[in-house]
Amino acid sequence: MKRTINKPVSRIVMIDPASPSTSVVREATRVLRQGGLVAFPTETVYGLGARALDPEAVTRIFTAKGRPANHPLIAHVLGVSDASALAARWSSLADELASRFWPGPLTLVVERAVGIPSVISGGASTVALRAPAHPVARALIAALGEPIAAPSANRYQSISPTQASHVASSLGSNVDMILDGGRSLCGIESTVVDLTGERPRILRHGAIPIGSIRTVVDVEIATGPVASNSSRVSPGMDARHYAPKTKLVLVDRRDLIADMCLAEGGSVGVILCGVADRSFEASRVVELPADSELYARELFATLHDLDARGLKAVIVEAPPNDESWLAVRDRLVRAQA
Ligand code: AMP
Ligand code: MG
Repeated sequence: MKRTINKPVSRIVMIDPASPSTSVVREATRVLRQGGLVAFPTETVYGLGARALDPEAVTRIFTAKGRPANHPLIAHVLGVSDASALAARWSSLADELASRFWPGPLTLVVERAVGIPSVISGGASTVALRAPAHPVARALIAALGEPIAAPSANRYQSISPTQASHVASSLGSNVDMILDGGRSLCGIESTVVDLTGERPRILRHGAIPIGSIRTVVDVEIATGPVASNSSRVSPGMDARHYAPKTKLVLVDRRDLIADMCLAEGGSVGVILCGVADRSFEASRVVELPADSELYARELFATLHDLDARGLKAVIVEAPPNDESWLAVRDRLVRAQA
């Protein structure tokens, strides 16, 4: 794997996701209290954590990721009482959504309370909040007794990490400690819902399908960047995101795959949606499940694996064009950009 060369690997500590060791959690909180960065598993992807209320620590996240300072981070909390303390207003709708989906992969964007450092929000007057379900994430927030800012633990625009080794190869020594709690169960990021406008709006499709959100509230879908002014930019909405180094090509028709493989001299990886008869020659073929949730779970790990093989291209058969696949299709389109 090219990208690990010359990069000292940070300290990786194993932690049981079912019952996180108190001493490991304590050690991690010590690193956080000193202003350091700890990568930890969540149910979506691995997060790169720092004390959310410490502007210097939060700034370190941006530096480690190479992420522009105007791309806001999500603050992770245990639940509604912590969340509402960070919000200027906590609406009954926020309450309803939180009681239905927290702890879990839903992020709510609300107006930021006075006194919360603006660096976490990239200067915006809002703040994004989520209560993760993963026992390691929860143990860490509880032991620290403060919210933890944590974007995905990877370099800006590259593939999100769903296991500790992905974090180590992407961030190297830019992270002080990595808690290895196995694979992230959802495999894609949280669904982000903006509650600051007249109507609730999905800023990013994610692990909670839009159909489930609609059982609570009728949301609209933000199309394209919210605004070109820096205060409302959402990183998950960048045209390029989640991208491997290898060229990725999304194809709508299975019968086009053979020609594309030929054009690249067979030095390609192919990701199929479901099982298929293979009428093409490729270096590696991966059949991901034809179920959007199971597909999402495997997607980033598959891209990491194919990206490390020095192939000329990764060809991805586009998944079905229906609502349950919106989050996966969104990742694939941005990975291709
Ligand atoms: P991640 O790198 O996965 O933590 O991405 C954070 C996501 O949260 C982005 O895609 C944004 O859409 C969203 N986000 C975070 N904070 C805000 C905010 N204050 N306003 C709008 N979107 C936000
Ligand atoms: Mg990210």
